[in-house]
Amino acid sequence: MTERKLLMIPGPINFDPSVLRALSTPTPSMLSPSFTKAFGETLTDLRKLVFTEKAQPIVVAGSGTLAMDIAVLNLIDEGDCVLVADIGFFGERYAEILTGYGAKVDILKNKWGTIADPEEIRKRLGEKNYKLVTVTHVDTSTGCRNDVKEIASVVKDSETLLVVDGVCATAGEPEMMDKWGIDVLLTASQKAIGVPPGLALVWFNERALEVSTERRSPIRSYFASLDKWLPVMRSYERGEPGYFGTPPVNLILALRQSLKLILEERVENVFRRHRLIGEAFRSAMQALGLKIVPMDESYAANTMTAVHYPEGVEDRKFREVLAQNVIVAGGLGGLKGQTFRVGHMGRVNSNDILATIGQIGITFKSLGIDLDTGTALAEAQQVLERL
Ligand code: PMP
Repeated sequence: MTERKLLMIPGPINFDPSVLRALSTPTPSMLSPSFTKAFGETLTDLRKLVFTEKAQPIVVAGSGTLAMDIAVLNLIDEGDCVLVADIGFFGERYAEILTGYGAKVDILKNKWGTIADPEEIRKRLGEKNYKLVTVTHVDTSTGCRNDVKEIASVVKDSETLLVVDGVCATAGEPEMMDKWGIDVLLTASQKAIGVPPGLALVWFNERALEVSTERRSPIRSYFASLDKWLPVMRSYERGEPGYFGTPPVNLILALRQSLKLILEERVENVFRRHRLIGEAFRSAMQALGLKIVPMDESYAANTMTAVHYPEGVEDRKFREVLAQNVIVAGGLGGLKGQTFRVGHMGRVNSNDILATIGQIGITFKSLGIDLDTGTALAEAQQVLERL
């Protein structure tokens, strides 16, 4: 019998059994009518997920980092200026990617535990002609969530395009692409979207697609080129198969199923569930007397939480004991060894979060740190009653 443990890391998450079953469908030809229909419907549903009529979704085999590549490679030429709003590990990654591709990168650095100030972005945009500004919606190192709506309202009226890394946010935090004015959104399958790792997803709105055609030099990647993928995506959506590189057929069938679950629950309800579960977990941590990384409650994401260890706890030991029942992640970057990270996204429910809180309390106790788990569970329960 396989062991029943809760996987509560910030991706990959616990996947719904129906999504895993879709993955085990006998693989159809990517040119077959059944797959063509499924892929076409998936692309249409991806628009509904991020509230866009016109932005073009692109789905290819790869991880979130490839999605980061695709999003910017198609828009910049060497020497273009890019502003990276950096609030943690994945902001730093974007700066590294862009520098590697020859962009002139200015980093708007924010202390870990805080978020980017939209007014500071406005100021920077007034000082220089930036082709892009990149923002991590939720940085997975800190569990802090940028105010993308506000940032978009600042960027919208400029010539600059807004690129949002939604890897730890999409399908867990609202992302109203058209209404807010997000030009490019990227994400990956293994987090709130609820599909095993292996899909890179990027949406380009019309403004971004236009800019992509104005590039002066050839794109520095064969695989990541929009010129190659756009006709394929458009073809499937018209109901005709297309080919550039073999699509990850089974993962796309799994994505179709996961999107079906999300749309059946209604996207707004999915966000609400994430909000309440996030709040329940944070209030439990507070009741345990533990400090979370976001320095202000309003910065805290609803998809995951990074928690500081109390004095005297050894990271590896804590996670090892807890892993007998619940698997959580360690800290990233500068927070390594000092924090643990809990993912609460995708199909996460009350059972998962209550069990996680309870086991965290039991684990601390077994390590000689007696925290008030009873009160923590009661606090969480009170929030979860509103679900
Ligand atoms: N951006 C963010 C915010 C992430 O959390 C991650 C992965 N944890 C990535 C980008 C990179 O995604 P991947 O690991 O799938 O390449």
